[in-house]
Amino acid sequence: MVSIDVRSVMRVIPTSLLCLAVTVSSPVAQVRPRDTLDIYVIDVEGGEATLFVAPSGESMLVDTGWPGFDGRDADRIASVAEQAGVTQIDYLIVTHFHTDHMGGAAQLADRLPVVHFIDHGTTIDQGDRARAAFEVYSTLRSTGTHRVVRPGDPIPVAGLDVRIIASDGSVLSGPLAGAGDANLFCAGFTFHGEDITSRFGDAEDQRSVSTFIGFGRFRTVIMGDLTWNLEHALMCPDNNIGTADLYLVSHHGSDTSGSEALVHALQPRVAVMNNGPRKGGAVQTFQILHAAPRLEDLWQNHYSIPAGDDHNMSERFIANLQDETPTQENPAVHMGPAHWIKVSARRDGSFTVTNSRNDFSRSYGPRN
Ligand SMILES: [Zn+2]
Ligand SMILES: [Zn+2]
Repeated sequence: MVSIDVRSVMRVIPTSLLCLAVTVSSPVAQVRPRDTLDIYVIDVEGGEATLFVAPSGESMLVDTGWPGFDGRDADRIASVAEQAGVTQIDYLIVTHFHTDHMGGAAQLADRLPVVHFIDHGTTIDQGDRARAAFEVYSTLRSTGTHRVVRPGDPIPVAGLDVRIIASDGSVLSGPLAGAGDANLFCAGFTFHGEDITSRFGDAEDQRSVSTFIGFGRFRTVIMGDLTWNLEHALMCPDNNIGTADLYLVSHHGSDTSGSEALVHALQPRVAVMNNGPRKGGAVQTFQILHAAPRLEDLWQNHYSIPAGDDHNMSERFIANLQDETPTQENPAVHMGPAHWIKVSARRDGSFTVTNSRNDFSRSYGPRN
C-alpha cells in the first residue's frame, strides 16, 4: 500500500501556492464544529485589527486598520474572516477614533455586514481631517446598532466572557472576578508619555476602549492605544484585571503604553505585538516584555527596525519581514496580502500560536 506523507508534499509546494490555497474559501471550514476561541492578529501596516471568533461562531472584531489604499486593510480583514468561516462581524469594537483603528470601518462594511458598533462615544480630536474621518464612521455606525460602553459593561458574545475594562478615559472602579490583589509592580511607577506632552492630540489614545476576554480558563486583554498613565489608574494599587495567558500588546508596542504595572502584573505567557516596521515596536517595550516574569514567547506582526536584532525575536516568530510601511509620499507600498498571527485557545487555558507566513506554531499548556 502506498502512503503519502502530506506534510512532506506540503513542504515542496511553493509558498505562493500555499497562500493561494488558504485564501480560497472552503465550505468545509464554514460547517466545522468549533471548540476553540480563535484570535487573528491581522497585519494592517502599523494599524490595529484583531478578529475573535468564538466557538459559538459569533465574531468580534477590534479595530479596522487604515482607510484608503483601495481597501487594502478591509480586504485583509475580509480575507481572514473568510478563512475563519465568518460571514458577518457581530460586534465591532472601535477602540478609539484614530484612523489606524477606525479608518477601515466603512470599507470593511462594504465587504462584510457589521451588526453592532461599540465605541467610547465621540472623538475629542478637533482637526478637520480627524473630524471628517469621524463623520464617516459616525454615519456608518448609524446603519447598525450603536452602543457607547463604559468600564464594567459586558459584551454578549455567545460563549465568551467579554467585559470592558476602560473607556473614554475611565477605568474599572473595582476588580474583575477573582482579581484585586495588591500589585507589586506599581512600586517605582513613573508617569510619562503623551498624556503629558501631546504631539498628536493623543488624549484620544487614553480614551481607548480596553477589553478583557475570557474563555473557560483562558484569559486575554486587548487595550487599543490605552496609555501608560491610564494603565496606572487601572492597575494600581490593586491589580483589577488579574492574570492573562495572552497579552495583545498595547499601542503597537509604543513606549507610551505597556508599563511594568500592566505587563508584569498580568504575567502573560505569550505576547503578540501588532507593530509596523517603523510603528511601535519600541526598545523599551521589548525590554519590559522580555523581562516579564512568566513570558515564554513574544510573537510580532513585523520586524521592528528601530529595535534591531538585539530586541526582535528570531524570524520564525515574526509574521512579516519586509519594510513596506505606507507613507504620505508613497502610499502604495505593500498593497498585497500579508501574514497574520493566530492564537487558538482552548477552554482549559491551553492555546496554540501560529505564524501564517511560515506555518511555525507552538503550543502552550494550561496555566498552573
Ligand atoms: Zn491612537
Ligand atoms: Zn494606534
